[in-house]
Amino acid sequence: MAMKVVIASSEVTPFAKTGGLADVTGTLSHVLKNMGCQVMVFLPYYREVWQKGISTEKLDVDVTVPIDRRILTVGIYRSVTPGGVSVYLLKRDEYYDRTCLYATPEGDYFDNLERFTLFSRAVVEALMALKAIPDIIHCNDWQTGLIPAYIQSLYAPHFKKTATVFTIHNIAYQGLFPATLFDITGLPAEMYNMEGIEFWGKINLLKAGIVYSDVVTTVSETYSKEIQTPEYGYGLEGVLRKRKDRLFGVLNGVDYSQWNPQTDRYIKANYSEKDLSGKAICKKDLLKEYHLDVNPSIPLIGIISRFAEQKGFDILSSSMEELMKLELAMVVLGTGERRYQTLFEELARRYPDKLSVKIAFDEALAHKLEAGCDFLLMPSRYEPCGLNQIYSLRYGTIPIVRATGGLDDTIRDYSEKNGNGFKFREYSPQALVEKVKEAISVYKNKKKWRTLQKRAMREDFSWHQSARKYLSIYRLAVGLKRGELSSAELHKN
Ligand code: ADP
Repeated sequence: MAMKVVIASSEVTPFAKTGGLADVTGTLSHVLKNMGCQVMVFLPYYREVWQKGISTEKLDVDVTVPIDRRILTVGIYRSVTPGGVSVYLLKRDEYYDRTCLYATPEGDYFDNLERFTLFSRAVVEALMALKAIPDIIHCNDWQTGLIPAYIQSLYAPHFKKTATVFTIHNIAYQGLFPATLFDITGLPAEMYNMEGIEFWGKINLLKAGIVYSDVVTTVSETYSKEIQTPEYGYGLEGVLRKRKDRLFGVLNGVDYSQWNPQTDRYIKANYSEKDLSGKAICKKDLLKEYHLDVNPSIPLIGIISRFAEQKGFDILSSSMEELMKLELAMVVLGTGERRYQTLFEELARRYPDKLSVKIAFDEALAHKLEAGCDFLLMPSRYEPCGLNQIYSLRYGTIPIVRATGGLDDTIRDYSEKNGNGFKFREYSPQALVEKVKEAISVYKNKKKWRTLQKRAMREDFSWHQSARKYLSIYRLAVGLKRGELSSAELHKN
């Protein structure tokens, strides 16, 4: 019988997106469906969804959710993707009809606990109202961390055979809230303790997901190990070490129907590994779009990024003076924290002939950067998986990355015979600059450069392998939940 899988996520491509999470849930749902699962996806009905003109149909059922002392009604809307996946959007306008999903450049929305408690509990209520009790609820990041807690407590009698899988896409974002707000969750008071949702005197929604789910996954093998250490665990390393039997790393895949220079509809000219002439056209087009009047033969380095501390902008800004002495140009696309917007704007003013910045979330431009640049730079302090470096490989745009998390798992440092990019290990401006210098020296050797580009373009990170892993993890989770397996047996399977 087909496995019934629910994916609950605070963002899903093409409905709403701030980063890689949306790409992962959007694509995984389709691949699972094509592998024979019955898939339902849940996300909040944000302003972004109707602004994009995505059509939805209101279902006859509403659900009610108690939040604190109020009972709130949540509308359920359905949309079917072109790939045939049913997506359920939960509507409550005062929470989700806003400019951003979680935060403005000035900081987080003040009521995020209410917003995502409502979402999490409404998902569970909606499954009951729709009489769609699944085998698996696959939850993602802190915004859905309460779902496993509800399934193990208030709603346990209705979900005796339903297992929960919780994926950590980024452990630094934990959904921390003051303990005094615990009543909002409606959970039994005894769940607020050190073994449960409490974390140094606060509510921690990511921890809820980790401790109450049947299986925990994260988005690369290396990151699954890193987060068990103090350097990368953001205080949750001990909790994860305790649950390491149930922790798996599954690398994200790529949707090559969206990220492929042969078919990409956003770029000026399509091209392939056999004929790269279109790439030069894309580069010229990109330089024009960024108003950079440089010789198109000099190496062009791109950055596409959320502006957040993890992305390595401190070592980048300390490297800038050295980098700008080299014969290269840089284009940046990003949005996020104000301090990094200011940083890049100042750099662009200081180096107007070599560096140009666009502060925007612009899907089309992201594709143009992937195609038009020679290099993509990701000097991340940490990177759970990272998607841009994997996309860039297919575009013959060579990643320069720091060896951490998924960057380490997907990029092999350059050698003539092997390697698909450039990778430095030490988190320092010197290591970054040295690697960029090495990358440029290879770029200047046409023969070596072409060989490297072609090798990169042949890499295959399609979703099937990862989806197969998720499917086997789902089976393990169900086995655990139904008492057919013990956690000690998990990693043997
Ligand atoms: P993260 O999820 O940490 O932001 P990933 O590399 O996993 O990083 O995923 C980032 C995704 O978001 C990619 O699809 C990337 O193209 C996209 N993205 C990031 N910033 C922008 C932006 N400013 N405009 C358009 N797309 C962006």
